[in-house]
Amino acid sequence: MRRAPESLLVAFDGDRLLDLRAAAPELPTTLREVLRQDGWQERLGRAAEAAPEVPWEPELLLPPIPDPGKVLCIGRNYAAHAKELGHATVDERPEVFVRTRTSLASPYQEIARPRVSEQLDYEVELAFVIGRAGRHVAAADAMRHVAGYCVFNDVSVRDYQLTREQWTAGKNFDGTAPFGPFLVTADEVPDPHDLELSTTVELAGGGEEELQRSRTSLLVHRIPELIAYITDWTTLEPGDVIATGTPPGVGLGRQPPRWLRPGETLISRVQGLGELRNRVVEESP
Ligand code: ZN
Repeated sequence: MRRAPESLLVAFDGDRLLDLRAAAPELPTTLREVLRQDGWQERLGRAAEAAPEVPWEPELLLPPIPDPGKVLCIGRNYAAHAKELGHATVDERPEVFVRTRTSLASPYQEIARPRVSEQLDYEVELAFVIGRAGRHVAAADAMRHVAGYCVFNDVSVRDYQLTREQWTAGKNFDGTAPFGPFLVTADEVPDPHDLELSTTVELAGGGEEELQRSRTSLLVHRIPELIAYITDWTTLEPGDVIATGTPPGVGLGRQPPRWLRPGETLISRVQGLGELRNRVVEESP
């Protein structure tokens, strides 16, 4: 697959992709670096006004933050999802695990079904991106640390996740977590706790199958609480990505289990944030 140059910083105005660095060459080459600068939102807005259009080639898009300092994911954060996996209650404290940078995927990138497992499962999630560093952030101040939101799919390899003490392997196969397609800034999302999110699969033989549909209003631990808890023990930095957990309907929770198959296209949507489209392929030899 051809990949976009790392230096291409684009904005999406609803119709067109705009090349921000063509209008403002002084801008950093990655969004993570942009977020480290005060007044980034105004600077990007000014650049967008003068930015030339670039052709819409979805397969060239990288994740909004291709190089996050850390990616934290929240486990079992919808009660009905915890239940479908056999857990009667949800933990009082958020359950947090780490994803590595190489486990991320672009919004339209193909996802390889691993050679070593058939248990490729989907988890649509709302993700947020940190815009302001913080440690020991109070829940009441937490939303000021959020730069914006993305669609995220925490695609998991269940046997590698659940037959080990730690989830690390099953959550970190290369290129299994698409996110994007863009960072939608917080001012464009009036209430992140009231968004519909869904997973649909385009079947190899045609037709579609809806597998997940829920609302972020059902999150057990909401964004302010997550930020307060996480910053008890680590510094959140600009560009850090946090995926908030998946609603029910995952393949593992079905009887029989419903794994993703080569030839299918995984479509992940969060209301107002756009969609990810990822074709599932066999891992190349
Ligand atoms: Zn997840």
